[in-house]
Amino acid sequence: MTIDYDLAIVGAGPAGCACALALSDKGLKIALIDKDVFPRDKICGDAIPGPSFKSIDNINKNWGSRLREFSEKVNISSSAVYFGGIKKITHNWLSFSYNCKRIDFDNFLFELVKSETNTTILEKKKVKKISDELTHINCVFHDTSSINVKMIVGCDGANSIVKRDLYTYDANESYSFAAIRAYYKGIEGIKEGENEFHFFKELDSYFWIFPLKNGFANIGLGVEKNKKKKNDSTTNVRKILEEIINSPYYIDRFKNAICIGGIKGFRLPIWTKTKPVSGNRFLLCGDAASLIDPLFGHGIDKAIWSGRIAANQIINCFKQNNFSSAFMRQYDELLNSKFKHELSRNRCLMKIGLRFPFLKKIVFWLFHDGKFTKWIIKKMKF
Ligand SMILES: Cc1cc2nc3c(=O)[nH]c(=O)nc-3n(C[C@H](O)[C@H](O)[C@H](O)COP(=O)(O)OP(=O)(O)OC[C@H]3O[C@@H](n4cnc5c(N)ncnc54)[C@H](O)[C@@H]3O)c2cc1C
Repeated sequence: MTIDYDLAIVGAGPAGCACALALSDKGLKIALIDKDVFPRDKICGDAIPGPSFKSIDNINKNWGSRLREFSEKVNISSSAVYFGGIKKITHNWLSFSYNCKRIDFDNFLFELVKSETNTTILEKKKVKKISDELTHINCVFHDTSSINVKMIVGCDGANSIVKRDLYTYDANESYSFAAIRAYYKGIEGIKEGENEFHFFKELDSYFWIFPLKNGFANIGLGVEKNKKKKNDSTTNVRKILEEIINSPYYIDRFKNAICIGGIKGFRLPIWTKTKPVSGNRFLLCGDAASLIDPLFGHGIDKAIWSGRIAANQIINCFKQNNFSSAFMRQYDELLNSKFKHELSRNRCLMKIGLRFPFLKKIVFWLFHDGKFTKWIIKKMKF
């Protein structure tokens, strides 16, 4: 039996690329594996949260600067919150962030890995089965080829095969939203540099309009997947989206708009509580570790940060030749100390909102006052 690579990173999204970038000069033989060929689309709101840039800066300042100056972006400096179709709040953000189609953003990170690191890239290689052989990990692809590695990182998103095959977890515990995204051109009234969040008393979550380059906008919404209700399929979320667009609130704004590429749906694995995200010879990052913010639904920043934190753990594993689940717990602890406070607070706020819909009215009323909004944003450190 030969070991083909020290490390396999499954998934070349933000988590996988950040992990490969952070390991660029560490002398490990690494394979970055993806089932798709880049550039590839990823269903998302395309709003890149500010902390993502800070995390790439921490890996390499020059790469961070290149990412900030990326030509496919539109800078975002404010968010507008609408209730019942009427703009109530505008909040100006101090930290840098932008919107960018994921097909471009992810490809930028992927090209960075290709050009700046010695990582072996395995594209169009869908992982079918992973097994822990005690002394190594065996990874079998759909094309029947296979590799043996000392360690594996699951950066393979919401339906992670690494998680399914190596992690013994209770599937009933996983919690997610069904979400959809569509690209539109020609929506009226879009303000440059402003993301729009639209709330309605009939909707548990929010509907978004995020401006993109060349007159495009990313629109979408998510709905809680509830096993008891029959509202969880993306078909139903699509229907809600169509109803919103054709409602009296928006019909004028969408009268000349055209949808390009159709409405597409995907699962948002929301963070619920602290659960192990590692085990013997493996770590999970990003959506595979369910790190999506329960209140805002963003996960790109957490994916990049967790990829970077995983890289530190990987370096320690190889230094000490220790790949045991007990040793991997350091990774869980680091992730918790970085994210637990923020994620559990936002989870709590989301649960209150879902359980007591009438509170929304009070919140709407309070947020009507700009001073209160500014105070709460400062206090909650959003
Ligand atoms: C509708 C929607 C809107 C969203 N909006 C936002 C937003 O505006 N801002 C934000 O920050 N976040 C948003 N998110 C969340 C965000 O998309 C994710 O948190 C982020 O993509 C996680 O990155 P990742 O690297 O963990 O996984 P991914 O980006 O999902 O990458 C996983 C990679 O693994 C590959 N892969 C999967 N299975 C296999 C396999 N078996 N073999 C080989 N390769 C495999 C995939 O091809 C993919 O390239 C949204 C999500 C949805 C669904």
